[in-house]
Amino acid sequence: MSILYHSTRDNNKKLTASQAVLQGLAEDGGLFVPDSLPVLDKSLEELKDMDYKGVAYEVMKLFLTDYTEEELKGCIERAYDEKFDTKEIAPIREAGGAYYLELFHGSTIAFKDMALSILPHLMTTAAKKNDLKEEIVILTATSGDTGKAALAGFADVPGTRICVFYPKNGVSKVQERQMVTQKGANVRVIGIEGNFDNAQTGVKKMFNDEALKAELKEKGFVFSSANSINIGRLVPQVVYYVYAYTRLLKDGNIKSGDKINICVPTGNFGNILAAYYAKQAGLPVNKLICASNSNRVLYDFFKSGSYDKLREMDENGAFSKDRKFILTGSPSMDILISSNLERLIYHIAGDDDKKNKALMEQLNKDGAYEISEDMKARLDDFCGGYASEEDTASKIASLYKECGYIIDPHTAVAGYVYDEYRKNTGDDTPALIASTASPYKFAKTVMCALDDKYASVDDMKLIDSLNEVSGVAIPQAIDDIRSAEVLHDIVCAIDEMPEEVRKFLR
Ligand SMILES: *Cc1c(COP(=O)(O)O)cnc(C)c1O
Repeated sequence: MSILYHSTRDNNKKLTASQAVLQGLAEDGGLFVPDSLPVLDKSLEELKDMDYKGVAYEVMKLFLTDYTEEELKGCIERAYDEKFDTKEIAPIREAGGAYYLELFHGSTIAFKDMALSILPHLMTTAAKKNDLKEEIVILTATSGDTGKAALAGFADVPGTRICVFYPKNGVSKVQERQMVTQKGANVRVIGIEGNFDNAQTGVKKMFNDEALKAELKEKGFVFSSANSINIGRLVPQVVYYVYAYTRLLKDGNIKSGDKINICVPTGNFGNILAAYYAKQAGLPVNKLICASNSNRVLYDFFKSGSYDKLREMDENGAFSKDRKFILTGSPSMDILISSNLERLIYHIAGDDDKKNKALMEQLNKDGAYEISEDMKARLDDFCGGYASEEDTASKIASLYKECGYIIDPHTAVAGYVYDEYRKNTGDDTPALIASTASPYKFAKTVMCALDDKYASVDDMKLIDSLNEVSGVAIPQAIDDIRSAEVLHDIVCAIDEMPEEVRKFLR
């Protein structure tokens, strides 16, 4: 069956998958969604005998129907290779009464590698298929992890350039060093004086700036996106949920047809939306547990049906307090506008583009919207929770004490939220927790959670301390940045972003 894509704000204009991958974001500001959500055409029993690449093909072929088998398999082959430090690609570790799905074994040690190691191949294949003449310019806003993973994916890929914007004071030391040391003739890294939402809004603005686009087209450039709004990011993320289920099956931890819960540390809502698509594709999933840090706009949304980036919900369920943007130890989730939620809103509105568009316009204008009662009823697949900084630190410490297993702060947010969910509901369905980063990426926060004495120790020294207490080998990505030279030092104001892009392309 062939699947076409259209904007969440306009059901009528159809694109093929490869066109949607190339374009990234719809012209009307909406996100591309498939005409219908595909269903697995092989049983999970059959898939359990395949390796990661095999499962990846079986899942991705359902969504990317205009890629030939040869093209898709070629992309998969080039993506999931020795860049990953384990043959399993996404191994599972049982600890503290849950299954942690480790998604950080790629080259930049965060889960973004799972999709960003294949996106450049999907995109260059799409460019060939569609006879694209222009050079593709990837514009990316990052809360820390996407930036590096996108840079690593696109560095020196012929026919592409990549420009990454990150909040100058909003990422971890390791994240920043990883980005500013990025090599490659086609890359540019820029810090902005603002937070992630400012960066993301600035990038979206450039995507919708017709004059800028026309000016650059004349010079032979066309914009695309490596952010999780790109369908080429989302689809590869559906794979590992299906894969994880089949590994639990294979290892005898669940039986055929058993349901699982999935808990995901959430920021832009891409990762958990992929789990939702996996459920729609036939994966036996009970609850999707959306875990937030102190920036708990999604928790408030799942509780109340109101999305409000300006005000926070109080104990009585009223949106009475001003919401502040909080910098936490899980920076990749410091987000108040979760872009991918738009796709879920569209689906629970019954694939109603007009309803969705009205809500998104309201969000733009008033900073808030409320969904209808029947939309709320369709949110039943989801459940929200959040963890404070103390909760997160306590989860890191307790899991280490119980099992000797060290998780990163993002994963710990999910671990804590899952424990609370289980305690409060008594639901002990086997649970998969998306483990989204290596603890080495956030060594400071992790070590301080284990003992305050590390607060005064230099970040880079803590890498060795973490190595001693965890017994886990220091990843190549960390070794690399210790000696690497800083190659990028541009910092700009939010309104200077378009000018910086022009300079880069000059
Ligand atoms: C990006 C990221 C997240 C959030 O994922 P979304 O798809 O944006 O919800 C969580 N943890 C880590 C480590 C990340 O890099």
